Amino acid sequence: MLDQYGRTIEYLRVSVTDRCNLRCRYCMPEEGVELLQHEQILSYDEIERIVRLCAKMGISKVKLTGGEPLVRKGLSSLLRRLKRIDGIEDVTLTTNGVLLESQIDDLVEAGLTAVNISLDTLDRAQYEELTRRDQLEEALRGLEAALSYPQLQVKINCVTLLGKNEEQWTKLAAFAKEKPVDVRFIEMMPIGIGQSDPNGSQKIVYDHLVQVFGEARNLSGRFGNGPAVYKQFPEFKGKIGFISAVSHQFCDGCNRIRLTADGFLKPCLQYSTGKDLKELLRSGKSDQEIFEAIKETIYRKPRSHQFKNSENEGHMCDTKQMEQRKMSSIGG
Ligand code: SAM
Ligand code: SF4
Repeated sequence: MLDQYGRTIEYLRVSVTDRCNLRCRYCMPEEGVELLQHEQILSYDEIERIVRLCAKMGISKVKLTGGEPLVRKGLSSLLRRLKRIDGIEDVTLTTNGVLLESQIDDLVEAGLTAVNISLDTLDRAQYEELTRRDQLEEALRGLEAALSYPQLQVKINCVTLLGKNEEQWTKLAAFAKEKPVDVRFIEMMPIGIGQSDPNGSQKIVYDHLVQVFGEARNLSGRFGNGPAVYKQFPEFKGKIGFISAVSHQFCDGCNRIRLTADGFLKPCLQYSTGKDLKELLRSGKSDQEIFEAIKETIYRKPRSHQFKNSENEGHMCDTKQMEQRKMSSIGG
């Protein structure tokens, strides 16, 4: 459906858990994480019901996220159920990859066609420092397992942490040189714990890559569901993408909404506004009533985030509405 600014909303990110087996420094604290109780999290039946209603409104693509989605039991069964919903064309996954090797067969069998693997470094010590867990090997095995399925579209996502992982940018980009994998560099967004981390902007990253790989060609057109812009470096098998919410606002073309693990429908990453669908589900509301609530939430999607303006340009923002949740409970 169209929102109030005429954008087509067709993509839903579903967070299935706020739990994670890593503790990335920009995403989750080491300790004292206030986790949702089991009963606060939507059941698979509840997620399926919401996705079915969203599909009636034109949502055709679903991304499963978290926390770490693979820590929730039976994820492939949810995937299979969502794929069967009329109107849902794609159900994809974003994961840190640590548990992927053991689950990939079931996921592909259930209908997974694309997976994004978050990987900020290939250096074991730095991986442990950034994620507080020594699990780079498992993540790389997950990546290899995904790559063993030629029909699966695999992307690597790297958050660009200025002063931390810049030496890794060319190493990660080299994956796209050797293999048909897209590698995307994500600017740190001022949400949750990562708010104050220095951000490696698209320009800084690109300049780094050019020094090693030469100039790239801009690719036009949309690849995938998201806001990434892509470049093609000479002799690369895959593309290099940039998701630059801070330096290049892309809200005019935003096509997405988000469902948190506890059932809150969020029309924009930066704002806390939205609708508590779990409350509606569990108070016995009809499909029609929930449908109307979803429709209203989509229609009222904010025009844009203010990541840059609120920080750097002094534009007015209603701070009362700013999102206070961590990325791990929104799902990225
Ligand atoms: N655990 C899964 C993973 O890491 O892919 C899924 C959830 S995670 C919150 C989704 C994505 O959000 C990851 O690629 C992560 O690097 C990214 N992320 C977390 N905090 C971020 C921030 N402040 N700015 C930009 N990306 C962030
Ligand atoms: Fe976990 Fe993903 Fe957050 Fe890292 S970015 S702590 S893997 S949810």
